[in-house]
Amino acid sequence: MSVTVRVPAKVNVQLGVGGLRADGFHDLANVFFAVALGDEVTATAGTPGTGVTLGCSGPDAAAVPLDDTNLAARAARLLAAHHGLAAPDVHLHIAKAIPVAGGMAGGSADGAAALVACDALWGLDTPLPVLLELAAELGSDVPFALVGGVALGRGRGELLDPLPVTGTFHWVFAVADGGLSTPAVFRECDRLREAAGTGSSDTDVPTPDADPALLAALAEGDAVALAGALANDLQPAALSLRPSLAATLRAGTETGALGALVSGSGPTCAFLAKDADAAAAVAEALRASGTCRTAHATHGPVPGASVLGG
Ligand code: ATP
Repeated sequence: MSVTVRVPAKVNVQLGVGGLRADGFHDLANVFFAVALGDEVTATAGTPGTGVTLGCSGPDAAAVPLDDTNLAARAARLLAAHHGLAAPDVHLHIAKAIPVAGGMAGGSADGAAALVACDALWGLDTPLPVLLELAAELGSDVPFALVGGVALGRGRGELLDPLPVTGTFHWVFAVADGGLSTPAVFRECDRLREAAGTGSSDTDVPTPDADPALLAALAEGDAVALAGALANDLQPAALSLRPSLAATLRAGTETGALGALVSGSGPTCAFLAKDADAAAAVAEALRASGTCRTAHATHGPVPGASVLGG
């Protein structure tokens, strides 16, 4: 018996980063947006005694750790422990389409998908609020992958409020060669703030808040206004660590994208297009530009982790 769950990647249409807190985290004003580019995680009942085993397919499969650190495996164990099930036997196969270490929360997505897949496979019927708590234990970006759509994340990103959106927005994602480490990008953000003389602690940097113009653009389904309001406080740090991303951003905007930004901690770059045809043309131009490994046209918002055929 097996259960397959489809789960979206995210782009942060706004990522406001506050100062470094004493606990080592930053307060965020994080507007998550779920896109159709996603992974599929299939949970299959294992033979007794085999434990949690993992497989992965897709162009980036070699970059995915198939050990105990994999967020899908951690999610299966956490759900089992929560229900007092000792030593679960399950095989998790990840069909990977989300760029690895790309700033699109692919590992978090697989964690959310594994929670939903194992919950269905084991017939647990865990209430959503409990799944959200388990998700937050796994990582700040995991709860959003459960709910999808568009949501404002506060705190470390784990306190979520769904946001109203009208219609569909069309996106292109330019995938870079190799990833960027999220903690390294946050450290670079702090370093750049110190170097600029503004200071980097939470007493130096004001607590970020969602931009009303961005929220209005989402609610009104206005792609031009959303393009003008896209903002990522981590972008200077990602560009500092990977200067070649400036050429990628330029290539997308020169070929007709309404707006562009680095997705989360990067190095994937996100471009907003006026419609599906424009997105296909921008993706084609980016692939031809030589400034990225590949580019995908997609759309959103889409729902969070959902059982296929369920
Ligand atoms: P985020 O935007 O949430 O910070 P990211 O999208 O930049 O993350 P991920 O694809 O989640 O990056 O990968 C970050 C690291 O997580 C990888 O380098 C890998 O070591 C680890 N990892 C754990 N589980 C997974 C998984 N299922 N898929 C991909 N990476 C995983």
